[in-house]
Amino acid sequence: MLITVLDLEKEPVRFDVAFEPGAIDYGGETLQKGPLAVAGQAELIEEKRIGETRGALRVVEDIRLRASYRGTFEIPCARCLDPVQHDLSGEFDLLFRPLGVDSDASERAISTPETEIGYYHDGGLVLEDVVREQVFLSLPARSLCGEDCKGLCPRCGKNLNSESCTCDKASADPRWSALSDLASRMKT
Ligand SMILES: [Zn+2]
Ligand SMILES: [Zn+2]
Repeated sequence: MLITVLDLEKEPVRFDVAFEPGAIDYGGETLQKGPLAVAGQAELIEEKRIGETRGALRVVEDIRLRASYRGTFEIPCARCLDPVQHDLSGEFDLLFRPLGVDSDASERAISTPETEIGYYHDGGLVLEDVVREQVFLSLPARSLCGEDCKGLCPRCGKNLNSESCTCDKASADPRWSALSDLASRMKT
């Protein structure tokens, strides 16, 4: 969903959408399960700026985007790779400036906004891009299926939560094999 400055110049845009799985590409290992509900509104904020050298007043059209979202995601357990479910819900209140507007260092904003700043380009914002970013920010960097997850056997790859194997654990750990190498060298 593209939210353009042109639309916002007429009136604020309200939205209440459900993104089906696949509508937003999260890349990698993040899976969306079921629809992701996103509701909120976008409006234009006129940011007045003054140039220190020329003293000229300029109005910058920022897009303020406020929304809440709710959805379920799956990411693999960091140890055993089994999918771990995360129910996400949150809100955001973001301000987007036109890309390149902050490149003039001699100019400063008269009113400093109290929200996070992002940038939009080509005259608008793609809602999906903003939502994807927010989902990544809310997901844990590392997820475990359980604190006591035993992980995968580094030798045979079996999931040790559900199976046991007969691999020699001591020699499978490179730290131990380095130590035993050292021990055998010291003997000779
Ligand atoms: Zn696990
Ligand atoms: Zn094994």
